[in-house]
Amino acid sequence: MELTLPIHAYFHGKIVPYAEAKIGVLTHGLHYGTAVFGGIRAYWNDDEQQLFMFRPMDHYRRFLNSAKLLRMTYDHTPESLTQITLDLLRADGYHRNVYVRPLAYKGDEIIGVKLHGVRDDLSIVAVPFDRYIANDTNAHVTISSWRRLDDNAIPARGKISGAYASSALIKTDAALAGFDDALVLTQEGHISEGSAMNVFMARDGVLGTPPITDNILEGITRRSVIELAKAELGLEVIERPVDRTEVYLCEELFLTGTAAQITAVTKVDHRPVGEGVMGPVAARLRELFGQLVEGRLPKYKHWNVAVYS
Ligand code: PMP
Repeated sequence: MELTLPIHAYFHGKIVPYAEAKIGVLTHGLHYGTAVFGGIRAYWNDDEQQLFMFRPMDHYRRFLNSAKLLRMTYDHTPESLTQITLDLLRADGYHRNVYVRPLAYKGDEIIGVKLHGVRDDLSIVAVPFDRYIANDTNAHVTISSWRRLDDNAIPARGKISGAYASSALIKTDAALAGFDDALVLTQEGHISEGSAMNVFMARDGVLGTPPITDNILEGITRRSVIELAKAELGLEVIERPVDRTEVYLCEELFLTGTAAQITAVTKVDHRPVGEGVMGPVAARLRELFGQLVEGRLPKYKHWNVAVYS
């Protein structure tokens, strides 16, 4: 996937040209992974000539909670961060889908592994962005030989930069072995999630997804899909531990995330999922989700924040 550089950045309290948003190589967050980030999409609706951010308040609530886990203190609220992001996106002026990346990081240029007494900095940028997983209707995943980080090591419910070294190991080993992504198991051997997405399976007509106590990131897409599956598809959705072999036997399997959106998984470790093609639940959810993120479903308008006035 090719990314173009951002046009502007929110950096040291103001919006500047991206080229001016520079940090030194000794920056704490870069060395020790003492940073947290977010990932928010904004979708272009050509009919309305409007850019809609998807659930920014929920994303920023999680972002500030992640920062709290690293003992960072900011005066910001989800509202103020959403407003800054609107200003940034208006300055950028994109008429296309974009991905917003806020980063809260320990900004001092010092040696010393700790959280206290290190300055908390904040940046936000946006880049053009479309698909993340190429095979989003027929992904092939493996079960990773890496285990998911535990809440008592690096809490997965925080989107902590250092934890993504683990996600990168999971993703790259899967990719080099020819898979689109991997499911990762908890220390106890339950399915936790993908490298950077949550997972759902349909078994005996019920939608199941690992509980937030199984070291998952509490995904905004996951939460949206749970609500949609219940309200629009009339499905029962259960958050419960998922065994490895359940994903070999289930009727449908799919991944959810801001980048991955809703990605149907049709093979796990060379075993076809159900009939080996995308199933009706994933197909219907993808259709609904695709419409609602572009602000086309009045019932879910409260999830869309319009960028341009
Ligand atoms: N798990 C991990 C580890 C992730 O990085 C992401 C992406 N943010 C998700 C799940 C999905 O979360 P969301 O739907 O909020 O993007």
